[in-house]
Amino acid sequence: MNLKEALSTGEQRLNEAQIMDARIDAWLLLEWVTGITRAKYFMDPGRELSESEIHVYEEALAKRCRRIPLQHITGEQEFMGLSFKVNENVLIPRQDTECLVELALEKYEPGMHVLDMCTGSGCIIISMEKLHQNQPDQDAGFSGCDISEAALEIAKENAKILHSKVCFIQSDLFEKVEKRYDMILSNPPYIRTSVIDELEEEVRCHDPRIALDGKEDGLYFYRRIIEEARNHLVNGGWLMFEIGHDQREDVMSMMTEYGYEEIHARKDLAGLDRVVFGRYYILDDSLR
Ligand code: GLN
Repeated sequence: MNLKEALSTGEQRLNEAQIMDARIDAWLLLEWVTGITRAKYFMDPGRELSESEIHVYEEALAKRCRRIPLQHITGEQEFMGLSFKVNENVLIPRQDTECLVELALEKYEPGMHVLDMCTGSGCIIISMEKLHQNQPDQDAGFSGCDISEAALEIAKENAKILHSKVCFIQSDLFEKVEKRYDMILSNPPYIRTSVIDELEEEVRCHDPRIALDGKEDGLYFYRRIIEEARNHLVNGGWLMFEIGHDQREDVMSMMTEYGYEEIHARKDLAGLDRVVFGRYYILDDSLR
């Protein structure tokens, strides 16, 4: 079997299993198995696959036909131009979330201390740490927090592979968070419990439910983070959230209700509301 044949058999099998982007997924699996680039493929589509490549490719296709997400087969997902390890214990990084990182990078100033609440794979805080324009030797503080020990294992591995100086805290929201930060970021679980069963099988069965489930109204974690972050922000500190496309009004009014100011929203590349952010000014003079 050569590359071209492998691609078309792959596409056909995935199509039969009604996988949505059959050709793209067949290509990505073939690329992963053979290490071939697109340019190389076009130069030599007749290159034969080795026995072991065929075997690994076949297995990967079989898994994908069972709706196992591509990223759980390859074990990785690109985010902000960096490659992150993933498994069934973390939410697969979504491109939409880059919108939050881009905003945070815009507002970031050298020396700021940044916390990522519900860090999962660590993709948000690690890419911030890698891409901010700080002096490399300056001891900037980047921390990620998650309740899940298993998620933090992956986050720590990602930080190590990417040579990133992020620290991780295992904590149920702010329970074990002691410091105050200049910026708190979060992509918390925000899907309403009743909606989870309507999501596609890849998400519903393979992304960790605790990374998706925002309880009854989907707003549980926003409410708690908005309330509790006030004790963990410096004066004028930023709170920035990824939100679901229909949560802008609710999250903005909760932030207003809890005394945040300069509250704004941003859309993602698809034109959907994706980020809400604001600042908290501490009224108590002794804490300024
Ligand atoms: N955006 C994710 C999805 O569509 C959900 C992420 C989250 O709950 N934080 O599945």
